[in-house]
Amino acid sequence: MLEHIQIQALKAFEDNYIWLIFNKNTRQATVVDPGDSRVVETALTALSLNLSSVLITHHHWDHTTGIQALTQARNIPVFGPAAEKIEGVTHPLGQGDTITLPLLDIEFSILSVPGHTLGHIAYYSISLAQPFLLCGDTLFACGCGRLFEGSPQQMHQSLQNIATLPSETLIYCTHEYTLANMDFALAVEPGNTQLQQRQTQAQAIRSKDKPTLPSTLATELATNPFLRCDQPEVISSVSHHCKQTLTDTESVFSELRAWKDSF
Ligand code: ZN
Ligand code: FE
Repeated sequence: MLEHIQIQALKAFEDNYIWLIFNKNTRQATVVDPGDSRVVETALTALSLNLSSVLITHHHWDHTTGIQALTQARNIPVFGPAAEKIEGVTHPLGQGDTITLPLLDIEFSILSVPGHTLGHIAYYSISLAQPFLLCGDTLFACGCGRLFEGSPQQMHQSLQNIATLPSETLIYCTHEYTLANMDFALAVEPGNTQLQQRQTQAQAIRSKDKPTLPSTLATELATNPFLRCDQPEVISSVSHHCKQTLTDTESVFSELRAWKDSF
């Protein structure tokens, strides 16, 4: 258990978070999906940290644009998905791989989570007091990523795989979409009292301009409709919306994602 590790959200662009993970003793750091190098450099300077690695979840520009500037003057590994072409990635990774971050001693196992993009990966770790997952644009608080490349079946399977992790797993996703996602989630499950309570909490947090993340898997399982496609209220809501009687969870997921796209 590494109690001297801290994880902090750096705000970038409109609603991105670049997660900064660092060792308070050694001052070594890693960043996840650095779309903007300036945001990262500012934080490294302010906190007196050395960047010793970079983690990438998928190829989109808002997650990768900072790689070049950050690695220009630093000889550090850049971990990223093997199945996507990303300039600057030195350590391509896929399902089942494990890595240990240099100088941070945090170990990750890699999950392949296609859907948002085809090569999207997530980083799962049990090195800290609580297990945590860096899931990019796959699972969001009360939502999931748009299907730019993958099929609904692929995304559904990816989310189902995440759902098997320990329920106390902390979920670090890369966008602050929580309030908008909750509006949709409540349209799907108006009777979900835990979701109503979560919305009240999230509104209070956002009114102070604080991140609503990380979330936990337990919270998502209770309030995120994309993980609840087997729940009667979700099935009936989605069936009603698409005017079909849906029975299998995969079709419910597929229609739910389509509904969200036009919400
Ligand atoms: Zn993306
Ligand atoms: Fe993104």
